[in-house]
Amino acid sequence: EVTRADATRGASSGRRVRIAHLYPELLNLYGDSGNILVLRKRLEWRGLGADVMEVHVDDTPSFSNVDLVFIGGGTDREQRIVCEKLLGVRNELAAFVEDGGVLAAVCGGYQLLGESYAMGDEKLPGLSLVDLRTERGTPRLIGNVAVKSRICPHVIVGYENHGGRTYLGDGVEPLGRVAYGNGNDGTSGFEGCLYKNVVGTYVHGPLLPKNPGVADYLLSRALERRYGDGSLEPLDDTEELAANQAMYDRMMSGDIET
Ligand code: GLN
Repeated sequence: EVTRADATRGASSGRRVRIAHLYPELLNLYGDSGNILVLRKRLEWRGLGADVMEVHVDDTPSFSNVDLVFIGGGTDREQRIVCEKLLGVRNELAAFVEDGGVLAAVCGGYQLLGESYAMGDEKLPGLSLVDLRTERGTPRLIGNVAVKSRICPHVIVGYENHGGRTYLGDGVEPLGRVAYGNGNDGTSGFEGCLYKNVVGTYVHGPLLPKNPGVADYLLSRALERRYGDGSLEPLDDTEELAANQAMYDRMMSGDIET
């Protein structure tokens, strides 16, 4: 087991993960950019390399040398800007996804993955990377959320706030089942999506600090794709899992105002 005190600098085993963080200044609701810190630290604590490339609005991103793309959540206004930008590189992003590239998308970013999303009365085209669509509903779905997923041993906990209702196509697996809160649409019991190495979710908070299993799932898939070796040494996640458990317990006991 690697302890934090052992944290090594650099990439002792030579493996590294190249992360593209899309539009951090626009898509950072509820601390979504904190997910990048977690990915970086969990690599560094294991002596693995982490390269983080920020993609800004005037950049034309290339995904050819990228292992993991992260898209956070944003307001409708920000989503519209981002979607226009990403439609310009839609085919490159689709090729990345089809080739097993890892893509993690939260809330507004998750909604962009589908064929369309509705803003008010307006229906905007999405990136059509995953067979899903997002419609508008009232009320907004706001509050804490807990999800049981096959991708990690602990319950995924966090916070959701979305007007959109996301419906998955037949072949698309949900990230998991809602144990508390609303998830994709408030009625299906599904939360998020899994497609190839894409993980879409409504979970903010940010997602990864209290859900280390999700972080390791993403890193492992990225390492597997690039090196054929997705193995990760276990870390001491006592603090992360205590925070996860505390939030879950409070949800279950009805102790949190949602
Ligand atoms: N603007 C989107 C909605 O309300 C997503 C918001 C978010 O990322 N939290 O559905």
